Amino acid sequence: MTKNTPEIVPESKEKYRDILSSGQLKDLFSRTISYLRVSLTDQCNLRCIYCSPKEVTEKLDCKELLSYEELLRVIDIAVQLGIRKVRLTGGEPLVRRNVISFIRRLASMSDLHDIRLTTNGVMLVRMAEELYEAGIRKLNISLDTLKRQRFRQITGVDCFDQVWQGIERVQAVGFSPIKLNIVALKGINDDEFVDFAGLALSHRLQVRFIEFMPIGRATIENREKYISVDEIKEKISVLGDLEEVTTFRVDGPARVYTLTDKNGTSGRIGFISPISHKFCETCNRLRLTSDGKLRSCLLSDMQTDLKQILRSGGSDDDVKAVLLKTIMDKPKGHTILEKDGVSCVGQMSRIGG
Ligand code: SAM
Repeated sequence: MTKNTPEIVPESKEKYRDILSSGQLKDLFSRTISYLRVSLTDQCNLRCIYCSPKEVTEKLDCKELLSYEELLRVIDIAVQLGIRKVRLTGGEPLVRRNVISFIRRLASMSDLHDIRLTTNGVMLVRMAEELYEAGIRKLNISLDTLKRQRFRQITGVDCFDQVWQGIERVQAVGFSPIKLNIVALKGINDDEFVDFAGLALSHRLQVRFIEFMPIGRATIENREKYISVDEIKEKISVLGDLEEVTTFRVDGPARVYTLTDKNGTSGRIGFISPISHKFCETCNRLRLTSDGKLRSCLLSDMQTDLKQILRSGGSDDDVKAVLLKTIMDKPKGHTILEKDGVSCVGQMSRIGG
């Protein structure tokens, strides 16, 4: 469902006042909304089996993407309202032209001190230094296998070595934290969970396992590949003890554990379980899609066309109204399981994973 500019009727003005009253953005379920995820492009240099449908899907024309000026304007307004953390994602954010100068401008925005990036790592060997210099310090790198041949099968591209070199490069440059995100896929990489968990012990990496989510057409073909975090924990427990870190600062949706092996070596493992253990009650996110739609939930197709508002002369107050209305409409929780297996139709690359 796409909605037009929300009309600010007096009754909603009252509700907006509630949302803003504490100096923070609080939704109707008392969640503080402070985090905006931005999909810079739906283009990607990989074609992962679970993210890109088999048939070729149309990519957005660059005129359909929000321009960097438009993005900076929306982010600036969001920061004025109380957003404190921005993650750049996609598609693959690093394939968008002039991304480094955009990040530099974003990093110079006062009151925005936390800019993060999610990448498949393919371009990191080349871009690590300039990314760091532009202002990124915190990286999530997606990697679903440690086997070169399997990497090609999953992503369609033979560049495992390049990604691994990218990981080594960002470690050398000094990014921290560096989190390695693995989507758990039954029959595809479930024989590697122990090897991945071992990286948390042997390298300075936080390893995070993510449950496969039913989003977009590619997931319909892959639904039987879902595997729960409980099964993952069971598999990696052969390495040692897993103890939940209760003192750890809230780390988004991940539940963080310390893994300690029999020699006393320890490392951090995160588990993200949107399906088996919903974490909606702590969700603090909004999402801006690459074609300029604002969403409050990854797993709901409800969104507002912000680009249309920006390009039809909308004022900053109009943009604020959309942000506030989106927060007001943020669902209490996703209903993907109640929908009897009907996944949301939005494409992950457009929405921003
Ligand atoms: N290209 C970047 C990357 O690979 O990290 C950013 C975009 S990608 C869509 C972001 C993350 O979403 C990746 O870690 C990817 O594995 C994950 N992802 C994509 N489809 C998913 C799905 N159906 N369920 C769970 N995670 C998914």
